[in-house]
Amino acid sequence: MIPRFKPDINHKEILGLFNVQDNAVEHFENIFKRKFKAVDAIAFPYGRSAQWAFFKSLNIKNSEIIMPAYTCSVVAHAISLSGNKPKFIDINLADYNMDLNQLENSINENTRAIIATHTFGYPQNIEWIEDIIKRAEKRFDRKIWFINDCCHAFGAKWKETLIGSSGDVAVYAFNISKLITSIFGGILTFQDKSLASKVRSFRDKHYKSPSWNKKISRRIYLLLVYFLFNKKSYDFLWYLKENTTFLDHLTKSYHLDNKIHFPPDYLDLMLQVEASVGAIQLQKYDSIIRNRIKKAYEYDLTLPRKEGWIFPPIIKGATYSHYTVRVKNRAKVIKDYAAKGIELGELIQYSIPHLSSYWEDGYNNKFPNSLEASKSTINFPL
Ligand SMILES: *Cc1c(COP(=O)(O)O)cnc(C)c1O
Repeated sequence: MIPRFKPDINHKEILGLFNVQDNAVEHFENIFKRKFKAVDAIAFPYGRSAQWAFFKSLNIKNSEIIMPAYTCSVVAHAISLSGNKPKFIDINLADYNMDLNQLENSINENTRAIIATHTFGYPQNIEWIEDIIKRAEKRFDRKIWFINDCCHAFGAKWKETLIGSSGDVAVYAFNISKLITSIFGGILTFQDKSLASKVRSFRDKHYKSPSWNKKISRRIYLLLVYFLFNKKSYDFLWYLKENTTFLDHLTKSYHLDNKIHFPPDYLDLMLQVEASVGAIQLQKYDSIIRNRIKKAYEYDLTLPRKEGWIFPPIIKGATYSHYTVRVKNRAKVIKDYAAKGIELGELIQYSIPHLSSYWEDGYNNKFPNSLEASKSTINFPL
């Protein structure tokens, strides 16, 4: 079975598990900020925890945070758990990003931040967002933070600007399904030193050293991932997934779409060993990105243009965290490809406002594109 995603890890990362410097996190932060054109970078145990910490550090609460209706649900969870409310905007079906035509009217006197997610690696028009924010700040006479969630958009560019190198703060995440991995983990990057130092003090005060147990189990986890993603063992994994609920149990504490929750260790510092792996991955980063772009172009040329299939746009500056096609009969397409030995992904099978924990009266018919994407997208292995 060809897996729907595969972390690019080899003996280097495995050696990195057993050769960890005491200042690995600091080192990772330093090389990361240079690579992603920021003045500071601060590491966290998860991307969601990083985003949560940003709101908490600045004491942003009882406010509205604008975000797209179709993205990873943890973005909304981080907003809710920090004591704020997500305000959803429907997406465009052309590139799966927040519909910027609806942005200006969604801002009100309660809005404190706007999150752009650059979904599937498609850069949003950041100049347009910045213009809207400037006007709104004048109108409501308050700061509105611009957050770039780069978890899908490592390396994407809007015109010549690297996504995440502008705005107030950028969020990156490194679990094994992301473009590069640090086992788990997340980072915030900043363009302003004093803003960063506020967040750093918050982290250093509220986050604690991980347990020994976790230091060991995270190493075992990456070893398992390394072995399970080779061909033979992945076939076995596939068998387990199709025939048992064993794997669901393993991922439950980490993520449930429909419940607003965080994993229990969300207030742990990033592990040194995670940073050690992350630093090794960062060296491969350019070739990983080049490869994904190449694969996306290949798919664009070679996938069969079946009736009713809608192909993703090929855009300059996009980095294709996922190559996503919309189809009518998703379950059948997935089954047909599985029979040919290719696992297709269903990355985001929900529209966040349609999840029961976020649903409100008045949402009826409000997010049609998000709903459509949640029902029809599949993604091909890159
Ligand atoms: C993966 C992801 C996150 C955060 O990931 P964690 O699992 O919390 O590290 C945030 N936003 C988006 C869009 C993501 O894809």
